[in-house]
Formats: sequence, C-alpha cells, structure tokens
Amino acid sequence: MNDSLAVDAEHLTKRYGDVVAVDELSFTIAPGQIYALLGLNGAGKTTTIRMLLGMVRPTGGRVSLLGNRIRPGVCAVWSRVGYLVEAPAAYPDLTVTENLETVARLRGLTGDKPITAVIARLGLEPYAHRRARTLSLGNAQRLGLAKALIHRPELLVLDEPANGLDPAGVAEIRTLLGELARDGVAVLLSSHILTEVARLATRIGVLDRGRLVWTGDTTDLVAQARPRLSVVVRDRAAAAAALHTAGHAPAAEGEGLLLDSEHALAHPDEIATLLVAAGCPPLRLAVEQDDLETCFLRLVGPQ
Ligand code: ATP
Repeated sequence: MNDSLAVDAEHLTKRYGDVVAVDELSFTIAPGQIYALLGLNGAGKTTTIRMLLGMVRPTGGRVSLLGNRIRPGVCAVWSRVGYLVEAPAAYPDLTVTENLETVARLRGLTGDKPITAVIARLGLEPYAHRRARTLSLGNAQRLGLAKALIHRPELLVLDEPANGLDPAGVAEIRTLLGELARDGVAVLLSSHILTEVARLATRIGVLDRGRLVWTGDTTDLVAQARPRLSVVVRDRAAAAAALHTAGHAPAAEGEGLLLDSEHALAHPDEIATLLVAAGCPPLRLAVEQDDLETCFLRLVGPQ
C-alpha cells in the first residue's frame, strides 16, 4: 500500500453468480490526477466505483483510499472523500441552500462559510433560494457536485458526471475539475463516451467486460486515432493489385482501400499517379483520421 496515493486498487474482483462484473482490476490514482474509467454499458464501471466507496463488498482484491484500507465499519476516511454516484438526489421541497445545510450538518460542518463557498464555487448563487425540484438538469447536477464538494474532499468520485449535460455544462465541469486537480484533489470519474472523457480526464483506464484493457495518458489515447489514406476507385481489385505491385499494402474497407504507411500518407500524389497509370484513376483520395470513438471501439474489440 502506498500512502501517498489517493486510490490504490489491487486485483479488485466482483462476481455476481456466474457474472464477473469486475475482474482482477488494479489501478492507482495520484493526488492532482483526473482519472477516467471508460467502458461501454455493463463494462463494470459502477461496480468498481461502488467497491471503492465501500458500497459493494469485493469478492476478491483490496482497495485503499488516501492510505486507508477500505473495510466494512471503518469510517475515518469518508470525511476526506466526496462522491456523486447516482442521479443527483436532493430534497425536492428544500431550497438549494437548505439542501446544502442538511449535508453540512451530516458532515459535521459548522457555520455558513462552507455553504456560501461551495454555492459560489459551483455558480449556484442565482438559484440559492430556489426549491431543488425546480432546478434544470444541469443545475441539479451542480447541486449534486456542491454536496460532494462541501467538505473540501481530497478525493472526488463521480459516476457519469456529464450524463445529461449540454456541452456548456460539460465545459463547466471540466473547468471545475481542472481547478480541483490544481489544488491537489484526485478525481475518479466514469463515462462511456470517449470524446467526453478526453475533454475531462488526464488519465484513462479502458474497462471491457470487467477487465482493464488499456491504461495511459489521455494524450496517448488521442494519438492512437491513426491517420490513413482512403482511396475510392471503380475497380478495387485492379487498384489493389497495382498498389501491391508497387510495394504498398492496401486494406479493403467499405467501397474503398486504405493505406496507412507513412510514405503513402506523405505522398498521396504519388498514389494518385500510380493508380492513373494502372488505369484505375481515383474517384476520391483523402487523408482521414479515426475519430476517438472508433479508436475506443478498436481497443475494446467486437462485443
Ligand atoms: P453502465 O454504464 O450501464 O452503468 P457499468 O460499466 O457501470 O455499466 P456495471 O453496472 O458495473 O457496469 O455492471 C457490470 C456487470 O455486472 C453487468 O453485466 C451487470 O449486469 C452486472 N451486475 C451489476 N450489478 C449486479 C447485481 N447486483 N446483480 C447481478 N449482476 C450485476
């Protein structure tokens, strides 16, 4: 166990009968890191988060948060952790301020300061005296985040924080998480949308059927979105033969052919000339780049 880590999960496993929801999952999160668990529906994200928070008992493995091993009945660390793991629930007939006062009391906080500070941080001032049930989805999510942050946690855990938010809402969360990370707060979030995760997180763990299939910096994953030269011709077989003869390795995709060598990418004019000479003039020739979702689906493979 490394005391300086915010999250240290080792071989975490959860089985429900024959279903292995989480399979030997090991990962760490350092202070100031924004780590995203990325996976399709059913990949095991929520189960992992619930095991971390002591809400689900692991079948195997162990987890430590902020240097404290998570065990049933051991509570000391929860005052240093904030979380939002379900649709943000609030007392509908209480105002934003009253909802936060309730949480503050439960957290043992005194005075108005924690409440006014978190209302300001989440930009909730205009809604401070509005009943929770009248809030828009985005503002209800902000209230959920305010409840998670009111005690200034060192670790923040968010299950699908951008769910239902419009692009402006996602941008706000990104700014907030960036500020928290700069203050040394560690953030764990989950999502099934890579483009969203790429905007929010600095590190990504890709979960597929309970297993971690890829971990790395967001920039490395984005770099995997490889460029390739896409060629469409009338006679694909003849064009492929001509390209092979010239030493290229075209792959068939859809109606066309793909080339991904650096040479072909740097010299599309050469490829065009070659195809014209072979009697297969290109109808279309373009350098394309995988979008992030394609890149993610390549990592998790066929479902
Ligand atoms: P989603 O994005 O849909 O929430 P997820 O990645 O969070 O998916 P989990 O909810 O952790 O995935 O579920 C992982 C697997 O474990 C799924 O196959 C799910 O059906 C199964 N599972 C989760 N909870 C239970 C349970 N209480 N009983 C039986 N199976 C469960």
